[in-house]
Amino acid sequence: MTMRAIGSWRAQARCRGADPEIFHPSDEDDGAQAKAICAECPVREPCLEYALTSREKDGVWGGLTARERRRILRQRRKSA
Ligand code: SF4
Repeated sequence: MTMRAIGSWRAQARCRGADPEIFHPSDEDDGAQAKAICAECPVREPCLEYALTSREKDGVWGGLTARERRRILRQRRKSA
């Protein structure tokens, strides 16, 4: 387990103990295994917010790949 989950929510992270490689899919379009774990995670929202605000560049966070997070950040910039 890496320090992928940082914050008070991390104790409830569903990915604790999961293989970190699942959360770093080689193909940016993949990550289905990680997303399935995130889908059942009780702290998906704070996890995603953390990844967005800290500009995490790699891996699946909060159920989204890096590409998907970049899209959200672009949308937020547009609507800001
Ligand atoms: S949303 Fe996904 S990456 Fe984030 S803590 Fe939960 S299982 Fe881990």
